[in-house]
Amino acid sequence: MSTVLPARHQRPLPLDRLILSAQPGPEAIEMDVVIVGAGPAGLACAIELARLAKREGEAGGNPGELNIAVLEKAGSLGEHSLSGAVVNPRAMRELFPDLKPSDFPFRRPVAGEAVYFLTQGRAQRIPPPPTMHNAGYYTASICEIVRWLGERAEELGINLFAGFPVDALLVTGDTVRGVRTTPSGLSREGEPTADYTEPTDLTARITVLAEGTRGMLSQAWREWQRVGTTNPQIFALGVKEVWESARPLDRVIHTLGWPLPNDAFGGSFFYSLGQNQVALGLVVGLDYHEASLDVHELVQRLKLHPLFRPYLEGGQLLEWGAKTIPEGGYYALAERRSGDGVLIAGDAAGFVDVPSLKGIHYAMQSGIYAARTIFDALKRGDTSAGSLAAYDRAVDESYIVADLYRTRNMRLAFKDGLYVGGVKAGLMTLTRGRFPSARIEMPEDAAAPRHVAPAEPFTPDGKLTVGKLDAVFKSGNATRDTIPSHLLVGPDITPEVADFYSHVCPAGVYERVGDELRVNPPNCVDCKATDVLGPRWTPREGGSGPKYRLM
Ligand SMILES: Cc1cc2nc3c(=O)[nH]c(=O)nc-3n(C[C@H](O)[C@H](O)[C@H](O)COP(=O)(O)OP(=O)(O)OC[C@H]3O[C@@H](n4cnc5c(N)ncnc54)[C@H](O)[C@@H]3O)c2cc1C
Ligand code: SF4
Repeated sequence: MSTVLPARHQRPLPLDRLILSAQPGPEAIEMDVVIVGAGPAGLACAIELARLAKREGEAGGNPGELNIAVLEKAGSLGEHSLSGAVVNPRAMRELFPDLKPSDFPFRRPVAGEAVYFLTQGRAQRIPPPPTMHNAGYYTASICEIVRWLGERAEELGINLFAGFPVDALLVTGDTVRGVRTTPSGLSREGEPTADYTEPTDLTARITVLAEGTRGMLSQAWREWQRVGTTNPQIFALGVKEVWESARPLDRVIHTLGWPLPNDAFGGSFFYSLGQNQVALGLVVGLDYHEASLDVHELVQRLKLHPLFRPYLEGGQLLEWGAKTIPEGGYYALAERRSGDGVLIAGDAAGFVDVPSLKGIHYAMQSGIYAARTIFDALKRGDTSAGSLAAYDRAVDESYIVADLYRTRNMRLAFKDGLYVGGVKAGLMTLTRGRFPSARIEMPEDAAAPRHVAPAEPFTPDGKLTVGKLDAVFKSGNATRDTIPSHLLVGPDITPEVADFYSHVCPAGVYERVGDELRVNPPNCVDCKATDVLGPRWTPREGGSGPKYRLM
């Protein structure tokens, strides 16, 4: 049987583009703190920092009010945000101690939950593993959470720059001095058009990388500074749909098993968002073994299962989207997430607990710790790596790392398949993570060979099930057709590799035409799966990509 080894066809990270040892331009905007990414991590950081500085300023202390900028690649806040989501409100309560849970931008409290093991036609209810208990939590749309946090940030005078993707870090020696944004208005060939806008430089005493999953700048900074991890980071791809449902759903549902093959890790989620809306998604570890596995297509098959179909049939697909999740947990955390003039927070640092599928409260909490460290550092006038290492200590001593440590081997156990993994994960739960005593080693996803076999054909009906082009339309993606490609294709793309990419990408960006790979960059919804297994993703013109409202 022939195989595809993704790593063989990948280009290295374009470090020379992402880390620029260049003086900021004469028009550079001077800030105290620049935050890359307006997700839960970046916005929580900005809000906590602005509050601390305001309070200190009012008391006549130093530093007084700060110039804080948050740069976001989406055209509007929340448009590139995608999550499940069931939210643990812990970090929200810490950030807004005066508010009640009913004031938070959540849809509804979790009223009940069920876990099922699926076969093609049946659903067997099983006891929920302790990591999947969600009592006391809330279902939510992360787009709404982000928009709401953005409003709180604006009230505090924080500069929110939506539609400004960061293209590179500006550095001097080992110190990060700020960022450069992407240019816009380039032709397909990369030439300036009449709409051309130059990149903007922003200087900062401290830059926070809160750019989410598979962040390019955080990857580049770690590689440049040779900051290692014990295991390499690994990822899952989640494809999600929001539906106006045909009948109400009163519980949070998770499933294991079908339509995934036994040697792939993952499962589905089905959440009620209230207002007759439901969120349905499938998350699949990107170390799967079959080259033809296609997460978008598996979601389409999932909707036909008798457990889901009655809720969806007669309803309406409102929105579709996709995003990766860092899954490596404790052993994939970088040995430090701070350096001279820089901090890394949220998914960009890998703060996700996969057994419970939670990252939002860890992202916010790490943003809060980053803000407190920055405030103290600016007060002392010391933004060196030594000073900012206080952030790593705060995170390491917090529930973020304690939670990830408790489930440290759980995801990794599933590299041997569902059944062996399930037994091992059960033992890990019983021993609170003490079994097995040793770390399970894990290669990076691109190093896992994929078996090439013909794909099982699937034809969407256009109502309950949709093809990739209709799906991209439902993501709201309206990227201009003439945009230059932001995807760096690697060497030796055989017809099998082209087929593999066409299955990896949920948005139909890659197609095999004859024996060649065709790339349709405007379709990209920035899920980053391609960066894990195929052509490198790089930041592109602001406002490109999806326009999620409900994800
Ligand atoms: C399918 C799925 C289901 C999930 N379910 C849950 C759940 O039920 N509960 C839960 O707690 N967590 C869940 N998570 C995880 C959770 O969504 C993340 O942990 C959380 O969103 C991380 O927040 P963040 O701020 O670190 O990153 P993000 O939310 O990804 O925000 C990062 C922001 O940075 C922006 N950005 C990226 N690069 C650049 C750049 N170069 N320049 C400018 N801006 C940039 C992005 O557009 C984005 O807006 C789920 C994730 C997925 C994908
Ligand atoms: S090209 Fe890559 S990042 Fe873009 S949608 Fe496809 S898999 Fe995701």
